[in-house]
Amino acid sequence: MEIKNLTWQEKLEFAAKNFSGATFSSSFSIEDQVITDFIAEKNLPIEIFTLDTGRLPQETYDVWQRTLEKYSLKIAAFYPDAEEISDFVNREGINAFYQNKELRLNCCEIRKIKPLQRALKGKNLWISGLRKEHSNARATKDFFEKDEALNLTKFYPLLEVSEEELWQKIQQKNIPFNRLYKSGYRSIGCAPCTRAISTGEEIRAGRWWWEEDAKKECGLHNLKKI
Ligand code: SF4
Repeated sequence: MEIKNLTWQEKLEFAAKNFSGATFSSSFSIEDQVITDFIAEKNLPIEIFTLDTGRLPQETYDVWQRTLEKYSLKIAAFYPDAEEISDFVNREGINAFYQNKELRLNCCEIRKIKPLQRALKGKNLWISGLRKEHSNARATKDFFEKDEALNLTKFYPLLEVSEEELWQKIQQKNIPFNRLYKSGYRSIGCAPCTRAISTGEEIRAGRWWWEEDAKKECGLHNLKKI
Protein backbone atom coordinates (compact mmCIF):
# COMPACT_ATOMS: atom_id res chain seq x y z
CA MET A 1 0.00 0.00 0.00
CA GLU A 2 1.21 3.50 -0.80
CA ILE A 3 2.08 5.70 2.17
CA LYS A 4 -0.42 8.37 1.09
CA ASN A 5 -3.28 5.89 1.47
CA LEU A 6 -2.49 5.16 5.13
CA THR A 7 -4.12 7.07 7.98
CA TRP A 8 -1.78 9.46 9.78
CA GLN A 9 -1.65 6.98 12.67
CA GLU A 10 -0.64 4.16 10.31
CA LYS A 11 1.97 6.43 8.74
CA LEU A 12 3.51 7.07 12.16
CA GLU A 13 3.51 3.36 13.02
CA PHE A 14 5.11 2.63 9.62
CA ALA A 15 7.86 5.17 10.31
CA ALA A 16 8.48 3.86 13.84
CA LYS A 17 8.80 0.32 12.49
CA ASN A 18 11.01 1.10 9.50
CA PHE A 19 13.37 3.78 10.80
CA SER A 20 15.75 3.52 13.73
CA GLY A 21 16.84 6.81 15.26
CA ALA A 22 13.47 8.50 14.79
CA THR A 23 13.00 11.78 16.63
CA PHE A 24 10.01 14.10 16.84
CA SER A 25 10.21 17.87 17.37
CA SER A 26 7.33 19.26 19.42
CA SER A 27 6.42 22.89 19.96
CA PHE A 28 3.25 21.77 21.81
CA SER A 29 1.07 22.91 18.91
CA ILE A 30 -2.22 21.05 18.35
CA GLU A 31 -0.48 19.03 15.64
CA ASP A 32 2.37 18.09 17.95
CA GLN A 33 0.08 17.28 20.87
CA VAL A 34 -1.93 14.83 18.76
CA ILE A 35 1.28 13.12 17.61
CA THR A 36 2.62 12.99 21.19
CA ASP A 37 -0.63 11.44 22.40
CA PHE A 38 -0.38 8.71 19.75
CA ILE A 39 3.30 8.01 20.50
CA ALA A 40 2.36 7.62 24.18
CA GLU A 41 -0.72 5.47 23.49
CA LYS A 42 1.19 3.04 21.25
CA ASN A 43 4.49 3.35 23.11
CA LEU A 44 6.22 3.97 19.77
CA PRO A 45 10.06 3.99 19.78
CA ILE A 46 10.23 7.67 18.83
CA GLU A 47 12.15 10.22 20.91
CA ILE A 48 10.56 13.61 21.54
CA PHE A 49 12.38 16.91 21.93
CA THR A 50 11.48 20.58 22.13
CA LEU A 51 13.37 23.83 21.61
CA ASP A 52 13.14 26.25 24.52
CA THR A 53 14.15 29.55 22.94
CA GLY A 54 13.88 31.45 26.22
CA ARG A 55 11.17 33.66 24.65
CA LEU A 56 8.20 31.27 24.66
CA PRO A 57 4.81 32.40 26.01
CA GLN A 58 3.92 31.26 29.54
CA GLU A 59 0.99 29.36 27.97
CA THR A 60 3.48 27.14 26.11
CA TYR A 61 5.36 26.32 29.31
CA ASP A 62 1.99 25.53 30.92
CA VAL A 63 0.97 23.04 28.21
CA TRP A 64 4.49 21.55 28.30
CA GLN A 65 4.04 20.87 32.05
CA ARG A 66 0.50 19.48 31.60
CA THR A 67 1.80 17.16 28.86
CA LEU A 68 4.49 15.77 31.18
CA GLU A 69 1.87 15.22 33.88
CA LYS A 70 -0.54 13.38 31.54
CA TYR A 71 1.92 11.08 29.77
CA SER A 72 4.83 9.06 31.11
CA LEU A 73 7.14 10.35 28.39
CA LYS A 74 10.46 12.12 28.30
CA ILE A 75 10.61 15.37 26.34
CA ALA A 76 14.21 16.49 25.91
CA ALA A 77 14.68 20.27 26.01
CA PHE A 78 17.35 21.96 23.89
CA TYR A 79 18.55 25.49 24.66
CA PRO A 80 20.51 28.27 22.95
CA ASP A 81 24.22 28.41 23.72
CA ALA A 82 24.49 30.67 26.79
CA GLU A 83 27.52 32.64 25.61
CA GLU A 84 26.19 33.12 22.10
CA ILE A 85 22.79 34.45 23.19
CA SER A 86 24.39 36.62 25.85
CA ASP A 87 26.75 38.20 23.28
CA PHE A 88 23.87 38.76 20.84
CA VAL A 89 21.56 40.41 23.39
CA ASN A 90 24.36 42.56 24.84
CA ARG A 91 25.35 43.70 21.35
CA GLU A 92 21.97 44.13 19.63
CA GLY A 93 19.43 44.54 22.44
CA ILE A 94 16.75 42.28 23.86
CA ASN A 95 14.19 42.85 21.06
CA ALA A 96 16.58 43.17 18.11
CA PHE A 97 14.31 41.04 15.87
CA TYR A 98 11.99 44.03 15.32
CA GLN A 99 14.79 46.16 13.83
CA ASN A 100 15.38 44.27 10.59
CA LYS A 101 15.13 40.82 9.06
CA GLU A 102 18.83 40.08 9.34
CA LEU A 103 18.74 40.48 13.13
CA ARG A 104 15.51 38.47 13.30
CA LEU A 105 17.17 35.62 11.42
CA ASN A 106 20.25 35.91 13.66
CA CYS A 107 18.01 35.52 16.70
CA CYS A 108 16.22 32.51 15.18
CA GLU A 109 19.56 30.95 14.32
CA ILE A 110 20.89 31.24 17.88
CA ARG A 111 17.68 30.40 19.71
CA LYS A 112 16.23 27.75 17.34
CA ILE A 113 18.38 26.54 14.47
CA LYS A 114 21.60 25.74 16.32
CA PRO A 115 19.75 23.93 19.16
CA LEU A 116 17.78 22.03 16.48
CA GLN A 117 21.02 21.00 14.78
CA ARG A 118 22.22 19.59 18.10
CA ALA A 119 18.91 17.77 18.61
CA LEU A 120 19.07 16.15 15.16
CA LYS A 121 22.70 15.08 15.28
CA GLY A 122 22.99 11.34 14.58
CA LYS A 123 19.25 10.89 13.89
CA ASN A 124 17.86 9.17 10.79
CA LEU A 125 14.31 10.46 10.79
CA TRP A 126 12.95 13.84 11.85
CA ILE A 127 9.18 13.82 12.40
CA SER A 128 7.38 17.16 12.25
CA GLY A 129 3.72 18.21 12.59
CA LEU A 130 3.91 20.42 9.51
CA ARG A 131 0.64 20.54 7.46
CA LYS A 132 -0.23 21.73 3.96
CA GLU A 133 -2.94 24.04 5.35
CA HIS A 134 -0.35 26.10 7.24
CA SER A 135 0.77 28.11 4.21
CA ASN A 136 1.19 28.12 0.45
CA ALA A 137 4.88 27.38 0.96
CA ARG A 138 4.01 24.12 2.77
CA ALA A 139 1.25 23.05 0.35
CA THR A 140 3.70 21.41 -2.06
CA LYS A 141 5.53 19.23 0.48
CA ASP A 142 5.65 15.40 0.30
CA PHE A 143 5.19 13.06 3.28
CA PHE A 144 8.86 12.10 3.19
CA GLU A 145 11.70 14.38 2.14
CA LYS A 146 15.31 13.29 1.92
CA ASP A 147 17.57 16.01 3.24
CA GLU A 148 21.06 15.38 1.91
CA ALA A 149 22.61 18.27 3.83
CA LEU A 150 21.27 16.97 7.14
CA ASN A 151 21.78 13.34 6.15
CA LEU A 152 18.33 12.38 7.38
CA THR A 153 14.77 11.94 6.19
CA LYS A 154 12.05 14.40 7.16
CA PHE A 155 8.58 13.01 7.69
CA TYR A 156 5.26 14.87 7.94
CA PRO A 157 2.51 12.38 8.95
CA LEU A 158 -0.13 15.12 9.39
CA LEU A 159 0.59 16.78 6.06
CA GLU A 160 -2.98 16.35 4.74
CA VAL A 161 -4.87 16.31 8.06
CA SER A 162 -7.33 19.17 8.64
CA GLU A 163 -7.36 21.48 11.64
CA GLU A 164 -10.93 20.32 12.35
CA GLU A 165 -9.80 16.69 12.62
CA LEU A 166 -7.06 17.68 15.06
CA TRP A 167 -9.52 19.53 17.33
CA GLN A 168 -11.88 16.53 17.24
CA LYS A 169 -9.05 14.28 18.43
CA ILE A 170 -8.03 16.76 21.13
CA GLN A 171 -11.56 16.93 22.50
CA GLN A 172 -12.23 13.21 22.19
CA LYS A 173 -9.06 12.27 24.09
CA ASN A 174 -8.81 15.29 26.39
CA ILE A 175 -5.34 16.10 25.05
CA PRO A 176 -3.72 19.16 26.70
CA PHE A 177 -3.53 22.18 24.36
CA ASN A 178 -2.09 25.68 24.47
CA ARG A 179 -4.66 28.13 25.87
CA LEU A 180 -3.57 30.79 23.33
CA TYR A 181 -5.65 28.94 20.69
CA LYS A 182 -8.69 30.19 22.57
CA SER A 183 -7.53 33.79 22.02
CA GLY A 184 -7.28 33.70 18.23
CA TYR A 185 -3.78 32.23 17.88
CA ARG A 186 -3.46 29.47 15.28
CA SER A 187 0.32 29.08 15.00
CA ILE A 188 2.35 29.71 18.15
CA GLY A 189 6.06 30.41 18.39
CA CYS A 190 8.03 32.87 20.52
CA ALA A 191 5.89 35.41 22.43
CA PRO A 192 7.29 38.61 20.89
CA CYS A 193 7.05 37.19 17.35
CA THR A 194 3.54 35.72 17.40
CA ARG A 195 0.12 37.37 17.40
CA ALA A 196 -3.49 36.25 17.04
CA ILE A 197 -4.90 36.33 13.51
CA SER A 198 -8.21 37.42 11.97
CA THR A 199 -10.68 35.32 9.97
CA GLY A 200 -9.41 34.78 6.43
CA GLU A 201 -5.72 35.25 7.25
CA GLU A 202 -3.25 32.45 6.48
CA ILE A 203 -2.65 30.26 9.56
CA ARG A 204 0.95 31.46 9.92
CA ALA A 205 0.13 35.14 9.30
CA GLY A 206 0.62 35.87 13.01
CA ARG A 207 4.29 34.84 12.91
CA TRP A 208 6.75 37.77 12.37
CA TRP A 209 3.69 39.78 11.33
CA TRP A 210 5.73 42.99 10.84
CA GLU A 211 7.70 41.43 7.96
CA GLU A 212 6.34 41.86 4.43
CA ASP A 213 7.46 38.59 2.79
CA ALA A 214 4.80 36.06 1.93
CA LYS A 215 7.10 33.16 2.83
CA LYS A 216 7.89 33.56 6.52
CA GLU A 217 9.78 30.75 8.21
CA CYS A 218 12.41 30.67 10.93
CA GLY A 219 14.63 28.39 8.86
CA LEU A 220 13.93 25.18 10.80
CA HIS A 221 12.78 23.44 7.63
CA ASN A 222 15.49 24.89 5.40
CA LEU A 223 18.64 23.86 7.23
CA LYS A 224 21.80 23.77 5.20
CA LYS A 225 24.14 21.71 7.33
CA ILE A 226 24.63 20.18 10.76
S1 SF4 B 1 10.85 33.70 16.77
FE1 SF4 B 1 11.54 35.75 17.47
S2 SF4 B 1 12.30 35.54 19.59
FE2 SF4 B 1 12.06 33.49 18.68
S3 SF4 B 1 14.07 32.98 17.97
FE3 SF4 B 1 13.00 33.87 16.18
S4 SF4 B 1 13.36 36.09 16.27
FE4 SF4 B 1 14.04 35.21 18.24
